[in-house]
Amino acid sequence: MKISTRIAVLPGDGIGPEIMAACMPILTRSAEHGGHKLSTKNGLIGWAAHDVYGDVMPEETWQLCQESDAILFGAVGLPKRDPELKSEMRPEKRALLPLRKKFNLGCNIRPVKVYPNLTDLSPLKNNRLVGGVDLTFFRELLGGDYFGERRLDPDGQWAEDVCHYDRNLIVNIARAAFGRAQITKEKVTSIDKANVLGATGTFWRGIVQEIHDTEFPFVALEHQFVDAFNLFLFTKPTSFQIVLTSNLQGDVLSDGGAGLSGSMGLLPSASLDTETGFGLYEPSGGSAPDIAGQNLANPIAMILSIALMFRYSLKDEETAVKIEKAVETTLQQGYRTVDLIPENSTNENLVTVGTVGMAVQVLSHLN
Ligand code: NAD
Repeated sequence: MKISTRIAVLPGDGIGPEIMAACMPILTRSAEHGGHKLSTKNGLIGWAAHDVYGDVMPEETWQLCQESDAILFGAVGLPKRDPELKSEMRPEKRALLPLRKKFNLGCNIRPVKVYPNLTDLSPLKNNRLVGGVDLTFFRELLGGDYFGERRLDPDGQWAEDVCHYDRNLIVNIARAAFGRAQITKEKVTSIDKANVLGATGTFWRGIVQEIHDTEFPFVALEHQFVDAFNLFLFTKPTSFQIVLTSNLQGDVLSDGGAGLSGSMGLLPSASLDTETGFGLYEPSGGSAPDIAGQNLANPIAMILSIALMFRYSLKDEETAVKIEKAVETTLQQGYRTVDLIPENSTNENLVTVGTVGMAVQVLSHLN
């Protein structure tokens, strides 16, 4: 029996609670199969917490997270309710960003995969080979423009956001990306703007190259300028495997990568403290209020986030792969939530299912 793991389950707002509830049996079954002892405890976050505690990130939820080894997170945010609170008291600024900071979640991992039988969903289907796209962004999450000094001229004549990088942040994310590439035997593409910038340019490239040469010399590494990579992501997406990026560049590029797959509902993410292994696992999309409460949301991003939790926090690659294969088999068999059915589709082999139906099908393949 492997070690016992405590998981804080934070469903949040919008589609968060329904996708989380649908996926819990998958978590339980996978843990049983992998021989893990897991304990889960639910907590409130976002508007769901505000309605009970008057705070989108109450002390009870901080405490729960602190007592846990990993966090499963649904989504937070309900734009319609934003006028009720000042921006710094809303879920995105008071819950999500502080969670990343407090738990030192500097390594954001976002796999993007175009499943062979879902190529019709991709906007590039008519002119590019997208079948077989299988890449993973390793995005630095605690440095750069988002955390640098922010200044506004009181006279409204200028503004600045300082892009600051400490060496250790780049070292940590580079090690995480190279470490994964060593296991998967994949190439690392490091993104920067070394022809113009310092922090996310020459400084970034120099440290990435140094970590490669001293610690991972046998991993294939290439450097790409961010503008060129942005083009190649859409013209030859199958030529990339592990993509190592700074915070802002990774934010922009990984959403572009998400566009390749055709639905936000397919994309998981992991945010890790690379030193302790503590992780927050969540779908890449948001709370999707337009479809919430209707059993329409695709649970696959949440299911694949659970797979990432087994891979990165529980160090159980076998169970992670089992979950990923169960998703693939379910899609092969034609089961689709509505976001996975192309407009004007006449394919009679597709079976439309809701949130719960999709999760039940994936569960049925977890043997
Ligand atoms: P969104 O990702 O919630 O929705 C964008 C589109 O994708 C919508 O059409 C939605 O229906 C669809 N979509 C998203 N997830 C889906 C799923 N699982 N299945 C099927 N379709 C899905 O982005 P948004 O509308 O810009 O944001 C809504 C709220 O979510 C905002 O308050 C925003 O701040 C918040 N948000 C939260 C997070 C997070 O909690 N990490 C991330 C992004 C956005």
